[in-house]
Order: sequence, then structure tokens, then C-alpha cells
Amino acid sequence: MNDLSSVAVDGTAVRTGLFIDGEWQPSASGATFPVYDPATERLIAEVAAANADDARRALDAAHRAQKSWRKTSPRERAELLRRTFEIIQSRSDEFAAVLTAEMGKPLGESLGEVAYGNEFMRWFSEQAAHVEGTFGQNPAGQTNIIVTREPVGPSLMITPWNFPLAMGTRKVGAALAAGCPVIIKPAALTPLTMALFVEALEEAGVPAGVVNLIPSDRASVISSSLMSDARLRKVSFTGSTGVGSTLLAQAAEHVQNSSMELGGNGPFVVLSDADVEAAVEGAITAKFRNGGQSCVAANRIIVHRDVAERFTEAFVQRVEALRMGDGRGDGTDVGPVIDGKQRDRIATLVDDAVAGGATVRVGGFVPAGAGSFYPPTVLTGVDPGSEISREEIFGPVATIAVADSDEQAIEMANDTPFGLVAFVFSQGLDRAFWAAGELEAGMIGVNRGLVSDAAAPFGGIKASGLGREGGAFGIEEYLETKYVALNR
Ligand code: NAD
Repeated sequence: MNDLSSVAVDGTAVRTGLFIDGEWQPSASGATFPVYDPATERLIAEVAAANADDARRALDAAHRAQKSWRKTSPRERAELLRRTFEIIQSRSDEFAAVLTAEMGKPLGESLGEVAYGNEFMRWFSEQAAHVEGTFGQNPAGQTNIIVTREPVGPSLMITPWNFPLAMGTRKVGAALAAGCPVIIKPAALTPLTMALFVEALEEAGVPAGVVNLIPSDRASVISSSLMSDARLRKVSFTGSTGVGSTLLAQAAEHVQNSSMELGGNGPFVVLSDADVEAAVEGAITAKFRNGGQSCVAANRIIVHRDVAERFTEAFVQRVEALRMGDGRGDGTDVGPVIDGKQRDRIATLVDDAVAGGATVRVGGFVPAGAGSFYPPTVLTGVDPGSEISREEIFGPVATIAVADSDEQAIEMANDTPFGLVAFVFSQGLDRAFWAAGELEAGMIGVNRGLVSDAAAPFGGIKASGLGREGGAFGIEEYLETKYVALNR
């Protein structure tokens, strides 16, 4: 591999190197790792595998770049982000094709992710010039209190495979707007979309060292080597709660600023006065978007007994009509899951639930043939204490449990260590607001099955994380507060 290497993925050329200090390059060791198409299980790329030396070089570059990057004008940073937004927009089809090839989601959903992910570039281009401080007087009158905001410093971003573009732009847009250089470690299963994104930033004119990309199949080697270096000032992680806890422990050594977007176990609550048809549509979106591989997926559908039968019959009918297939195909609603390991994990969760008394209404089997497919599945009569109710399913499997009262439904919904998202359907404004107040989650969808929005604060409580991404809060994660006491 030479430093210009790229591979054609569904007709789009994608860089396969590391990007450090403004140069595409092979890894120091020359090692690579494979990337597969989950729909066919075929190899689509070999990508340079960064090691600890590469990580250190990326941090050297980011640390050097920090001195000038933090001093650029907010307008300059805003315009870089805006140019990147426009480049991505003009290449949406290519981004979407690569996203589908490496991750498997249907092309229409990939285009949706490109639009959503790119919205963070536009949003943070607008935020960059609106960072404010304060000026005041202390109560005794001897000093003026001047409060300014400054960039945190070199930031490590570790992203998951389920939204390969959006989970990166949501962090990178905010960090660059705030004046922080970044080191991105994308998921090993889906590093290609992030390479396209970095190429767009390069084309937009990002200075050398401000954005560094170090894909690797040895994530913990990269994070440990960077986090043991006090020059790294921030870690922003999206992924599972277990890995998030490990990173928080590592961040303690140098007291590195940490943002954690972790796992969820989202309840989808249908109250007794819900519009059942709307609830069914909301549940289809909340459960089957991205094949259920979303941290904000409906993991547990909890329905009031009065509407349970009507909801279940209509929901099962809708799920029966969902078409599973290669994401490139016209009319595919649900693509493959990310790999065979995930498919087998999902199959075991379903089999154990059935052994524990649940009933399969649709799906519930591993289909024959190539590709890591698991069909859209509905289980009823699921024990709320069973593993499938306790764990994040992260696949196209819906479980329905019945509650005897609205109060019991909320109690069941909150019975989890996680608190990322919750959905509630009710036609009564009072009832819906009561439920939104009672549900323990960082985000509540009321009468809708989708909450993600670049202009809103995304994040969880309890074991689902620390900090918020997007909205007015997103840039805050990359800013520190400095107070100057001015003698009067
Ligand atoms: P994961 O935790 O296995 O991996 C996430 C990232 O961390 C990847 O880049 C991976 O290479 C890296 N990683 C893995 N082990 C590591 C280690 N020991 N040290 C450092 N880095 C390590 O998660 P995943 O399977 O890629 O993603 C699914 C999880 O992400 C789910 O739990 C989902 O809920 C969560 N998620 C959360 C959000 C959110 O915003 N809260 C969004 C998307 C996904």
C-alpha cells in the first residue's frame, strides 16, 4: 500500500490509509485489517491498521496544531464547516453507497443518515460564531468578573459502527467549531464512511494536524496509548456501556474531560388513551429503523391492556409486510445485521425468550444463505425479567409486554439501569406530559418514534452516558470556562 491508496467501493473511491498531520499514509507497521459487506459477507476493503506509534504521531500533530487552531477566528472555523457541509451534500449518493456497502442499511436510510449526519456540520458552522462569555461585578464591588470560554484541547473521538457518519460528524463538528483538534478512531467494522468524511474536510481546507484519522482493529491499544498521555485533553465516546466505563476509568489518570454516549434499553409505552394506528407506525420506526441497531431503538414495547390486542394485531401485520434484503435493493425495508456474531447473539436472545414462554408472532429464525440476515421478528408474552428485556437487543426483534395500568407501564419502563430514550403514545396532553415527566431518560419521544435532531441535545442519564451532543449543548462539551478577576 502506498500513501495514496484507495479502493473502489460500489463505484466510489475511498482512501484506505491513515490521515495524520495532513497526509494520507500507511500505518507504521504496514498492517491492515479487512472490511466486509454484511449483505454478502464479501471482503470490500483492506484498511491501514493504526498502532500505538501511529496514535502517538496523531497526538503529536494534534498537539502542534492546537496552538494555531485555537486562535483561528470563529468565522474561519464556521466557514470550514460550511464548506465541508456543501462538499458532503454534493457527494450524498457516494457517501450513501459506501455506508450501505460497509454497514448494510437500506440505501434510503443511508441517504437519511448522510442528511442527518451532515446537518451537524451545518449546525455547528452556525454555532461556531455564537460562543459567549459574561462580564459582571462581584457583590462587594472590588472586581469585575470576566468569564470566557476556551477550547478544551486535543480530543479523541471513538465511534461505533451503527451510524458510521453521524456518530462522527456529531462530535467532529462540535469540536472543530469550538477550536479543538481531533483524532478519530472509527469502528473497525465501518471505517470507510469516515475516510470519505475526512477527505471532505481535507478538500474544504482543514489545516494539517487539526483532523487526524486512525482506523484500527486494536481499539484498546489506541485508546490506552492516547489516554495515558496528558496532552490528550478530551475523550468523546459513543458505544457500549462496558467500554464507556473502562474509558472513564482510564480518563481518571490525567483527569481528561469525558463525554459518553452509551447503550440504551428504550421503552416504547402505549398508554390506554393512545391513537393505536399512530402508535403502530411510531413503533415500526422506533424498532426497525437501522434494523433495530440503534441506541435509541425501542427495545421493549409496553402496551396498556385496553389497547394491547388491537396494537399487537396491527403491529404484527405491519411487520409481516417488511421486506428484508440487501440494502442496495429497491424496496428493502430491513438490511442485514452488522455481522454473523451479532446475528447469532440476536438468535440466542430470541431462542432463550421462547424457551422462557414467549410466543413468536413473526420471524424468529436464522434464514439460510449468505449474508448476516435476521428477519423482522415480533415476540409476545415476553417476561419483563428475561434477558431479552434486560439487554439491548440491537436487532430487528420487537418484544411486547402488557401492563394493567398506565402507572404500571411507566414503572416497567423505568425498571432498567439505562436511561437514553423513552417513547410514549397518548392522546391526552396532560397524560403525555405526566408520562414524559415520570420516564427516566435523557430523551422522550411523545407520539413519535424518532427523536434525533441536530438542533436538540442528544444523550442519556443513568448508565446511558454523560454529556449531550447536538443542540446548543454540543459545543459546550469542547469548551472550558475561564474566569478573569479584574481589579476595579
Ligand atoms: P463498542 O463499545 O463495541 O464499540 C464502540 C467503539 O469503541 C468502536 O470504535 C470500537 O472499536 C471501540 N472499542 C471497543 N472496545 C474498546 C476498548 N476496550 N477500548 C477503547 N475502544 C474500544 O460498541 P458498538 O458495538 O460499536 O456499538 C454499539 C453500542 O453503541 C450500543 O451499546 C449502542 O447503544 C451504543 N450507541 C450509543 C449511542 C448514543 O448516542 N448513546 C449511539 C450509537 C450507539
